[in-house]
Amino acid sequence: VRREPPQVVRPLLGRAGNSIVVGGIAGPAADGSDIPTIDPATGEVLARIAAGSCFDVERAVASASRAFPSWRSLKPAARGRILADLADLIERNAEELAVLETLDNGKPLTESQYLDVAMVAEVWRYFAGWCTKVAGETLPVSPPVGESFVYTRREPLGVIGAIVPWNFPLLIGSWKLAPALAAGNTVVLKPSELTSLSALRLVELALEAGLPPGVLNLVTGYGTEAGQALIDHPGVAKVSFTGSTATGRRIVTASAASLKKLTLELGGKSANIVFPDADLAAAAQGALTGIFLNQGQVCCAGSRLFVHRDVADDLIAELSVAAGAIQLGHGLADDTDMGPLISAAQLERVQGYVTSGVEQGADLVCGGDRPGGEFADGFFLRPTVFSNVGDHMTIAREEIFGPVLSVLTFTDEDEVVRRANRSEYGLAAGLWTNDVKRAHRVAHALEAGTVWVNMYNMLDPVAPFGGYKASGYGRDLGAESLLGYTQTKAVWIGL
Ligand code: NAD
Repeated sequence: VRREPPQVVRPLLGRAGNSIVVGGIAGPAADGSDIPTIDPATGEVLARIAAGSCFDVERAVASASRAFPSWRSLKPAARGRILADLADLIERNAEELAVLETLDNGKPLTESQYLDVAMVAEVWRYFAGWCTKVAGETLPVSPPVGESFVYTRREPLGVIGAIVPWNFPLLIGSWKLAPALAAGNTVVLKPSELTSLSALRLVELALEAGLPPGVLNLVTGYGTEAGQALIDHPGVAKVSFTGSTATGRRIVTASAASLKKLTLELGGKSANIVFPDADLAAAAQGALTGIFLNQGQVCCAGSRLFVHRDVADDLIAELSVAAGAIQLGHGLADDTDMGPLISAAQLERVQGYVTSGVEQGADLVCGGDRPGGEFADGFFLRPTVFSNVGDHMTIAREEIFGPVLSVLTFTDEDEVVRRANRSEYGLAAGLWTNDVKRAHRVAHALEAGTVWVNMYNMLDPVAPFGGYKASGYGRDLGAESLLGYTQTKAVWIGL
């Protein structure tokens, strides 16, 4: 286990207490309180971040409101150049950002580098291009008297509150900030209290790229304090939230008073279906990535693996061997395949699900326990596979958000589609088959915002991502997310 933070991030860890950035100036919380941020692989305190309250949110919203008129009226090409410059700066500082993400979140450095930070730069570049492409329409109206010329404008909303979880702090933050800023809004970002370091560095880089002070503000702190204050603030036009369905429900209720607009990216319990004609080696690999990437702390994790009964024994045997070979370790160590869970509380929660799986009669094929020795102080759990899982079991119904795979068997296509759809969630789904007709038929029948065929966990800035049912509403990424940060005005001209 490697414990020393490398040189590349040490200066930032020292400054992290000044993690509230308002109008381009970093400082502590108004009341001076702070929160330790922990390396989940060792349990050691990495740095302390400011615990923002409603007073800090008040200042940040005021700053974003002041910056809004000039940011929205900046020439779109100039706005786009700043966002593109930020994409370049992210690439130039990729190593530092990846190391920070790994230290704070625990994920292996290769994931931080090649999945998180690499896509972060592409997301900023993609939305930088949109600045000059947010266009209205002219409309062929038929007024009862006279003639009219009618056109629409896509206008920014104002101040956006972006509330982000801990599993992909920089990536999900960028999914919200880049389109909101591209559309001409200003933003107050509230990262997770567990992983705020990369957001702090991102805001510094944004200022360096030329983003005017006040356009992007950062308030670190607890959800129930800083997050809640953003939801309650009448000066915030929209909140874009990613997190659990339980918090999402609270946000919907709290937003009713101000009728705030919301985008909600919530939990999932995604089905990954292996038909008997699939390439089984590829399906096994896809099932492993589907559940063990980021220690299973992925909203679209393929946590319900439906396997056709004719191929179930072979596939489960393969999964068991491969899961057993996954090397746990500190995310900065070279040979690490999988890191720790985010916190002691999350570890305890996931272990509770493992216990419930055993108690409700599922077969524990591998994992379920914690490694000892050098890993004892970190929040590690071995990759876990259950077979003989019934649809009624808790591990097949609830989002675990950890490295726990439930394998269920099925016999025919209609049955598996029905069972896959029998979930309150609808974020994503996967299916593995070599039958092209079946691929499309099942992809269309699954109730999910994203369906992967013969692949899993693939994302791109161009493709919208978001949920059906209790997985939320609105979309991140793609043109749809950008339009979600605009409002339409119809302008009538009497001719
Ligand atoms: P969480 O709901 O506990 O917290 C998410 C964010 O909301 C954090 O910044 C937190 O501080 C803040 N928050 C908490 N209570 C709040 C309140 N009352 N008012 C305002 N803000 C509040 O979620 P988490 O544990 O950080 O993340 C895990 C969850 O996120 C999982 O359920 C996962 O499925 C979901 N998730 C969804 C997506 C998606 O795109 N659909 C992506 C990643 C994670």
